[in-house]
Amino acid sequence: DAPVLEVRDLERHFTTSGGTVRAVDGVSLTIGRGEVLGLVGESGSGKSTVGRCVVRLDEPTGGRIALKGTDITHLSRRALRPLRTDMHLVFQDPSSSLDPRMTIGQIVAEPLRLHRLVPRSGLRGRAEELLGQVGLRPEHADRHPHELSGGQRQRISLARALSVAPDLLIADEPTSALDVSVQASVLNLLADLQRDRGFGCLFITHDLAAVEFLADRIAVMYLGRIVEEAPTAQLFADPLHPYTQALLSAAPVPDPTLQRTRERIVLTGDLPSPLSPPPGCHFHTRCPVAMDRCRTEVPELRELREPPAMSRRVACHLANTSPSGD
Ligand code: SF4
Ligand code: MG
Repeated sequence: DAPVLEVRDLERHFTTSGGTVRAVDGVSLTIGRGEVLGLVGESGSGKSTVGRCVVRLDEPTGGRIALKGTDITHLSRRALRPLRTDMHLVFQDPSSSLDPRMTIGQIVAEPLRLHRLVPRSGLRGRAEELLGQVGLRPEHADRHPHELSGGQRQRISLARALSVAPDLLIADEPTSALDVSVQASVLNLLADLQRDRGFGCLFITHDLAAVEFLADRIAVMYLGRIVEEAPTAQLFADPLHPYTQALLSAAPVPDPTLQRTRERIVLTGDLPSPLSPPPGCHFHTRCPVAMDRCRTEVPELRELREPPAMSRRVACHLANTSPSGD
């Protein structure tokens, strides 16, 4: 069975008056059926652009994207349309994607209507069913987006996403625009729906607690590249890349009984601009353990071969040191 999503050497470069921005600079990742891959990094790391390229809101300038084995990298809008039921994007701010003139019932049923999945007479009933599945009531179908809270609006976008039963959900910071008090309930809903429906998920976030809760595996991005990828528990227990170590050391630990003994690593300097990323390892300007070769040699993202390191990837000269010196 082909993975639900396979991204190879994805590039998204674009030209500005200041030069070429390498927003995404050679990203490869795979999501199996029913698997949740967390994509984390600071803002400006390119993580949202990866998601936007997958649904083709941004055009990739290099690499390849395959959805369930079908190469969709250069499909036209028209050819892409039938595949819109296979993948769905949920944005950070639901307000921007919900048409204020439509009722909630119409919004939720719209994908079903557009893709002719349910006869017109059945749309209302199906919309009410979907509202129930995201914890809302049938009466909500007659309201308009502005009458609902931010958390309720994000539930509506989830209901809308689920209406077409996608195999891949791309969730870009789905809770970060919400009040802290409702973030957990929306995240729990997403986790429940993912488990029940079994869709694959690319979960894009800077929220480490959320990603630890939801993701099976995590990929960490820095300046347009993945620097480390590992199963969630492994990444949190034993981060190998100095950037991941710094990121995790700064994360608050919600449950003190889980206190991980980790020294806080404070990164100095700002995130460099993707207009002029540092040569060699992009992270060398802030890396506490940078060596000479880091300034010139790009560390490859390599699979670690020795068990129990299976399926871990890391891009750091230190982690890649082997007796043969390669
Ligand atoms: Fe630090 Fe060098 Fe590893 Fe980059 S390659 S993370 S600069 S040690
Ligand atoms: Mg973003």
